[in-house]
Amino acid sequence: MKVESPSHAAPEQVVGCAEESLPSLEDDAQDAQVTVDQAINEVVERVRSLADGVRIEVREHSQSVEQINHDLLATANVSDPQAASRIIARLIDANRHLDSRLNLAETRLQEQSELLRSHRVEARTDALTGLPNRRVFDEEIQRLFEEKRDALRASSLIMVDIDHFKDFNDFHGHQAGDLCLKKVGEVIRQTVRGIGGIVVRYGGEEFAVLLPGTELFDAKVAAQRLNRNIERLIVDFEQQELKVTASLGVAEIGRDCDASEWLGRADRALYAAKRDGRNRGCWHDGKESHEITRRNTDPVIEVDEESHAIARREAFNHDVNRRLALFHRKRQPLALILASIDLVDDRPAPEHPDFMAIQQAVMQVFGAVLRDMDHICQLADNQFGALLPAADGQDAATVAERARDAISRIELKTPTDVIRISISCGVSHALEGDEAEHMLSRSESALAHAQSKNGNAVYLLRHEMDWEAPLRVTPEVVIAHG
Ligand code: GH3
Ligand code: MG
Ligand code: MG
Repeated sequence: MKVESPSHAAPEQVVGCAEESLPSLEDDAQDAQVTVDQAINEVVERVRSLADGVRIEVREHSQSVEQINHDLLATANVSDPQAASRIIARLIDANRHLDSRLNLAETRLQEQSELLRSHRVEARTDALTGLPNRRVFDEEIQRLFEEKRDALRASSLIMVDIDHFKDFNDFHGHQAGDLCLKKVGEVIRQTVRGIGGIVVRYGGEEFAVLLPGTELFDAKVAAQRLNRNIERLIVDFEQQELKVTASLGVAEIGRDCDASEWLGRADRALYAAKRDGRNRGCWHDGKESHEITRRNTDPVIEVDEESHAIARREAFNHDVNRRLALFHRKRQPLALILASIDLVDDRPAPEHPDFMAIQQAVMQVFGAVLRDMDHICQLADNQFGALLPAADGQDAATVAERARDAISRIELKTPTDVIRISISCGVSHALEGDEAEHMLSRSESALAHAQSKNGNAVYLLRHEMDWEAPLRVTPEVVIAHG
């Protein structure tokens, strides 16, 4: 997928120093592919000749058995027991010979099959980044479209192209460029791991992220994170700290769009991102491209004045509703954690002089245990909500328990004191017919239960009927019920 950009348009204007002496990278990739294909053909050829060998051995064996049989019939008339036992010995010999030849052939076939498997992996892997290559991408797209015929699934695609990479190579050299490609590939893989993205090196300095089952909204969030994480990446090369940015094009599979239209949309969005100044993402709605606004996409929303809490709560409820609609429509699980900080030094946490630091520590822990796709929000003075798409109650309870455990071990040092904190959490998951307030109030009930039991606990409400006595979650309980 090529994006026509100013630097594509006039390559001869860029002063090439490192590149002139090197063979073209695309030629290299093609050569490697030809070599792997050749190796696979050679294996197939060897297997064919092994099969021929086996066929010949079996035919020869059958001929010698026939001969032995013939000789045996002849000796029966002579009634010479010694001659008969000599013939039987020949038969045993012939069988042994065939047996050992077949064993040998089996060992050889096993070797070839192993070789074929490793060639197959090699043929599907990009040698530089270790990521799957374009071949895998084409296969996955094909599979998705075959699947799509049965059930229309929302899926998205993100094309990633490193900005001004030719200049990067010209300036820092090809080795730095190669290292940078590896690191960017790794950042992309890490960033989309949580939502099950398939990352491939599409070619040159382009990567493609296939997000089966991911709708546009989440793909746009993923794109924002990709921009941010690539921008933050530092490539250590020969005592220098090198940086790059990338432009992204996002498109969701359309109801009646085929593979090439889908790729075309992502490509046009990528072109728009380049045209609009690079280091950004655009998405395509089938007619035109729109910019994906860059915002702070950390799962943790910073604490702000009270007036904003209301707007946040609304935004959060909106998010819960949107996710619940997906749960009802597509059975995508959804869980909600409500957390609050327990009393600190015998007083409500918000009244503690170091509440800001306390809150920050708690948020940091949540930031570390939550996945990129999760959404955390401050709902009240001392109440936080975390929405976990694609997680059931048990998963969310495990996450909450991890946060509770980590927070209970924090020692916040102030100039005069060491503060110890703990949190209580209530967890619930989406149930048939739920609206946002139902889920929220179930989590609230579980949270209230945790607080009434002296805090520093996680309670999970699994069914409507657990309402009065949610299940206490400790790591053992979670495992026992897993
Ligand atoms: P734009 O922002 O418009 O994408 O500009 P660009 O310079 O990134 O785009 P262009 O297509 O002009 O250049 C791509 C460069 O990527 C040229 C090539 O040297 C470099 N490149 C492609 N594959 C590799 C590789 O495997 N290793 C290294 N080091 N460089 C590569
Ligand atoms: Mg490119
Ligand atoms: Mg580029």
